[in-house]
Amino acid sequence: MKILVVEDEQRILQFVKKGLEEAGFAVDSCERGDDGLLLATTQSYDAIILDIMLPGRDGLSVLRQIREKKNAVPVILLTARTALDERVEGLNLGADDYLTKPFYVEELIARLHALGRRATGQSLTVLQAGDLVVNLVTREVKNNGGDIRLTAREFTLLEYLMRSPGRVFSRTQILEHVWGYDFDPNTNLVDVHIQRLRKKLGAAGDSLIETIRGVGYRFKKTET
Ligand code: CA
Repeated sequence: MKILVVEDEQRILQFVKKGLEEAGFAVDSCERGDDGLLLATTQSYDAIILDIMLPGRDGLSVLRQIREKKNAVPVILLTARTALDERVEGLNLGADDYLTKPFYVEELIARLHALGRRATGQSLTVLQAGDLVVNLVTREVKNNGGDIRLTAREFTLLEYLMRSPGRVFSRTQILEHVWGYDFDPNTNLVDVHIQRLRKKLGAAGDSLIETIRGVGYRFKKTET
């Protein structure tokens, strides 16, 4: 698979490039949005990893231009943790997925493989597990048809676990992803939020989010 990475932060660009190349992807990269648009419209890629805050032309504008040219290349946006509006706008503009900084390169690779498995042109806007339906664009969560109101953190936490059913996440991974700052390793922030989330999910809560003793948590793998 040939991937284009458009990212102006050298540190992120280098680790993404290295990680993807080690995983067997061919990688082109650039740091400016206008350069990214030029490459995206003149070369052929299997997927584009696109940062939003870029010099030259911002990522959302690049995405809009790509889609206006009827180019359906899969696009994964890189967004800041706090930038909810950008993620929603990005999905509405036709992004296939997004990844919130900071992220692990393994996560990006998993998303790329998932894109490959999904039918072309069908973007990921809904996560589903049994009766639980999470809409990433409208941020609506429904369980058995009933609305569930989650805080922004609870939503991010649920999305993070639900995207990788069956995968065990340590408390540290969850903290870094959902809260994204240095923390006291003894904090019970994660456990408290997991308890709240389970409670809001009702009867299914305890079985959907499993505790892996001594390690962390995982979202139950269900047949859908
Ligand atoms: Ca940037």
